[in-house]
Amino acid sequence: MDSFTRHYIEGFMGDVIARNPGESEFHQAVREVVESVASYVTAYPQLMDQKILERIVEPERIIIFRVPWMDDRGEVHINRGFRVQCNSAIGPYKGGLRFHPSVNLSIMKFLAFEQTFKNALTTLPMGGAKGGSDFNPRGKSDTEVMRFCQSFMTELCRHIGPDTDVPAGDIGVGGREIGYLFGQYKRLKDEFSGTLTGKGLSWGGSLLRPEATGYGLCYFASQMLETRGQRFEGKKVNISGAGNVAQYAAQKAMRLGAVVQTLSDSDGFIYDPAGLTEEKMDFVFELKNIRRGRIKEYAARFPGVTYTPGERPWGIPCDIALPCATQNEIEKADAEKLVAGGCSCVAEGANMPSTPEAIRIIQGAGLLYSPGKASNAGGVATSGLEMSQNSMRQHWTSDEVDQYLHRIMQDIHATCLKYGTGEDGTVNYVKGANLAGFIKVAGAMSDQGLV
Ligand code: NDP
Repeated sequence: MDSFTRHYIEGFMGDVIARNPGESEFHQAVREVVESVASYVTAYPQLMDQKILERIVEPERIIIFRVPWMDDRGEVHINRGFRVQCNSAIGPYKGGLRFHPSVNLSIMKFLAFEQTFKNALTTLPMGGAKGGSDFNPRGKSDTEVMRFCQSFMTELCRHIGPDTDVPAGDIGVGGREIGYLFGQYKRLKDEFSGTLTGKGLSWGGSLLRPEATGYGLCYFASQMLETRGQRFEGKKVNISGAGNVAQYAAQKAMRLGAVVQTLSDSDGFIYDPAGLTEEKMDFVFELKNIRRGRIKEYAARFPGVTYTPGERPWGIPCDIALPCATQNEIEKADAEKLVAGGCSCVAEGANMPSTPEAIRIIQGAGLLYSPGKASNAGGVATSGLEMSQNSMRQHWTSDEVDQYLHRIMQDIHATCLKYGTGEDGTVNYVKGANLAGFIKVAGAMSDQGLV
């Protein structure tokens, strides 16, 4: 990188940090993209003149609102709701809702920013957004979750719609929450529309949407492995998380012949050297999705399994790591452990799970590495397919959706190779994903004038 471009990046980031003080996750996400696209931007004077990059880092709209609700004992609680509508240049805003106590403006903005590039990569017409609340669903009864969702949607419904903004799930928002949110939206707006995705099958949902992010991750990782003549079969795989993405990544990796050794939650991780089986997966689905229990119960249920509280699974030697829990869950020391343990591929299921220092170590050691915005795009892509089915009043079969998902993940992989292959033949998936997403969004913004 020449000194002009380096200077440009530092000046740009200085402005972003000054305008968005204290938003460390947002700064981190912006820096990663800016480092990937700066050489391109500085080579095209019209992009500089139109201040495309400056506009992309400024969300089109941010909505912050009060969410009051009452628990089962009659006590009143106040949470904060967010919707960050980042960019609508290539389609209506689209992106999940996260309910987790850590949610704040920085996390919402980083996720909406990432979503903009991810959605552009899917080849489907979707802009980028994200939303959620600092509400913690853990330990709440179904009726408390329902009351919260109804209060949240009472405000959010003013800002979304099938051609405006189509939210979906994320951490803490699964089928149950989407149901309550959809019910309240329908009641308030008096319309049955595809305004949310991740819906139940009998009321407009798509087959394979719950599986899509985890399955898509494995399809993408398979493509990465293929570039080195490798496959999932026989590989040891470590997965973090035990939620939606982790569950279906684990199921697909297992069905592709891998030995899935670990799962985790925010309390600790389980290590099962014999690997997951269909029977063990059924236990996990029941444990997490019906009983809403903790992953340590897996160790109590199956012999030969250990549970390590307070730690992440990256110290267990493996061939492939699939982080599927949350942002910055692979730090420098974790990356060093992965490299030392013989890992050859890190494919991200979560959004921004690796810190910049960790990425440098992983890439520096020559591992295959893909950023979440490329390898976890199968979820939003299938949400896009759900929107298409809703608009056409059609219902595609599981095989049809799976074929679309396969093709989209293959296309995203090919796009990463096209934009990310260096002169020495090595592939930088971060650069490939960021540059391809940026070129598409920037082109649309340029065509649409100064808005
Ligand atoms: P879920 O809520 O279903 O599961 C999240 C899992 O991650 C849980 O096991 C949870 O444990 C764990 N987790 C959450 N926060 C932390 C934390 N701070 N430290 C350690 N573990 C944590 O969420 P999803 O599976 O839907 O989402 C996981 C990741 O994938 C997120 O980064 C999300 O943005 C991303 N993603 C999700 C998509 C989707 O379709 N759902 C699409 C694309 C990306 P615990 O129960 O203890 O909180």
